[in-house]
Amino acid sequence: MTLRQGRSAMTGCRFSLIAGLALLGGLSALASPQASSPPDWEAILTSMGLVDVQSIQRDIGVDLKYSTADNFLGRDVYGSLEKCFLRNEAARKLAAAQDKLTHLKPGWRLLVFDGARPRRIQALMWEIVRGTPQQRYVANPATGSNHNFGVAVDLTIVDAEGQELDMGTAFDFFGDLAQPRYEEDFLKQGKLTEGQVENRRLLRKIMIDAGFLSISTEWWHFDAFSRDEIRRRFAIIE
Ligand SMILES: [Zn+2]
Repeated sequence: MTLRQGRSAMTGCRFSLIAGLALLGGLSALASPQASSPPDWEAILTSMGLVDVQSIQRDIGVDLKYSTADNFLGRDVYGSLEKCFLRNEAARKLAAAQDKLTHLKPGWRLLVFDGARPRRIQALMWEIVRGTPQQRYVANPATGSNHNFGVAVDLTIVDAEGQELDMGTAFDFFGDLAQPRYEEDFLKQGKLTEGQVENRRLLRKIMIDAGFLSISTEWWHFDAFSRDEIRRRFAIIE
């Protein structure tokens, strides 16, 4: 791996992915004789008591970006995981957020980009970005992301015509413009419009009213509980 660090990011990504897959394959082969077949994540998460959010609130839209190639990794790393699963309490809060949105804006829907993410997938993502500029945007699987506990959700809002609201940046935009802590400055500088900031405020309002916590660095990310409470009450999803 050391010899390859001087190569281009693309080459590094490719080799890291292969190394990551080989490592994961090797680990699972040790753990179980049938581990060569890909995990049925939805069955695993259901058996752990996590909830498919659309099973309790069918108005919520789901487009899991990491289960497509339309993400910053450029590949599907979620495999069989196509739905947004969350811990039951977090799923109930998300359903409440959709109810609040429907009340304020009939016909508008939440559109979820990410929910529960098993640590094994986090490790794969970590291997892909290791040594690249994107490394700082992926949580180290050793400590885990709140997504690994099944209590974090990434999402936006779509209007009654099905159009995503303009939030000023795309989901997973890596730059200050995506960070709520700089919103007022960008508004003054004309880099974000009043409409874009209003859209973000609407998303925050309904999510916070439903019991979520927003973060200062990503407009799309919300946690159902504080970091301390998450680590006290929930196990990481391996
Ligand atoms: Zn997130």
